[in-house]
Amino acid sequence: MTHELPKLPYALDALQPHLSRETLEYHYGKHHKAYVDKLNELIPGTRYADMTLEQIVRAAEPGAIFNNAAQVWNHTFYFLAFAPEKGSRPEDALAAAIDRDFGSFDAMKEAMSKAGVGQFGSGWVWLVADKSGKLEVVATPNAATPLTDTGKTPLFTLDVWEHAYYIDYRNRRADYLTAMWEIIDWQIVAKRFAEVV
Ligand code: MN
Repeated sequence: MTHELPKLPYALDALQPHLSRETLEYHYGKHHKAYVDKLNELIPGTRYADMTLEQIVRAAEPGAIFNNAAQVWNHTFYFLAFAPEKGSRPEDALAAAIDRDFGSFDAMKEAMSKAGVGQFGSGWVWLVADKSGKLEVVATPNAATPLTDTGKTPLFTLDVWEHAYYIDYRNRRADYLTAMWEIIDWQIVAKRFAEVV
């Protein structure tokens, strides 16, 4: 099957000032698209040719097919959890789980920022839930993704590759991570959490 760059449910300038149109043009329009195009180049004639994206990520050996498939999945998961700023916060069961497992919403944000700043080089930081709904922050290097960990369901992710923030924040990764709290769509995160518990 042919994999496609997902359509974004917002305009390229809709996440400003937190993520600029230029960042979206490059990060979504060039980096994310390049992973999709490369994956489509690599899979014809392989055992991955007819698999879904998730199946490829879970089945692929370390190497180019895994890297490109996982980066397509990770970026889609990242971009689809944003919405133009509306100051939403976790509510109901998700808010209760955050309070239970981190102490407070602020403590969860702090744990996520700390993991993101502490990730050496390129990678991702994730909020994940285990099968009982217990929440945890994990960081993964390069293209690695908790999708390959059958015990963990990712709820949202922040990309800490430099290409995610260098246009808008230069080397200030911590400032980029702080700004992302303004555009996370907690209704989408709650929907993902509801599928676990
Ligand atoms: Mn990226």
